Parts: sequence; C-alpha cells; structure tokens
Amino acid sequence: MAKFVLLLAIVVALVWLTRVGRRRASGGDAAAPPAAPKEAMVACAQCGLHLPNGDALPGRGGLFCSEAHRTQFEQSRR
Ligand SMILES: [Zn+2]
Repeated sequence: MAKFVLLLAIVVALVWLTRVGRRRASGGDAAAPPAAPKEAMVACAQCGLHLPNGDALPGRGGLFCSEAHRTQFEQSRR
C-alpha cells in the first residue's frame, strides 16, 4: 500500500510540474502579462458607424449599431 501511495504522489507531482512548465512556456510570466482583452471594434452594416463588438447587434447581414438599422438593412435586402 505504501508503494501505491508513493507512486500516486510521483504521478501528481509530475502532472503539476508539467502544468507549471506549460504555463511558463506560454508566456504567462508577470514580466509579460497576456494582452488585455481589448474589445474589437466593428462597423454597422447599415450606416458604417464603428462600435464595440459587445454593443453590436448581430443580424442576418452582419452587425448593426441599433435594431432600427438591422431592420432597415434586412428590409432593403429583400
Ligand atoms: Zn447603424
């Protein structure tokens, strides 16, 4: 039983070391923090206004600044 516990401890240690190694290799150091999640800007398909991706309304023809433009765009395509 003692051998089994020892083996388990070695396996856990190896897995942990592998994870730490991967994190370091991927550039997760404090000196090089990952790029801040900057919100992408998209253009309204109807009027061309630029707005953050999170504020855009997805529609059938693309992304829109407002519901009115989404409706206008979809009606003009019909
Ligand atoms: Zn618009």
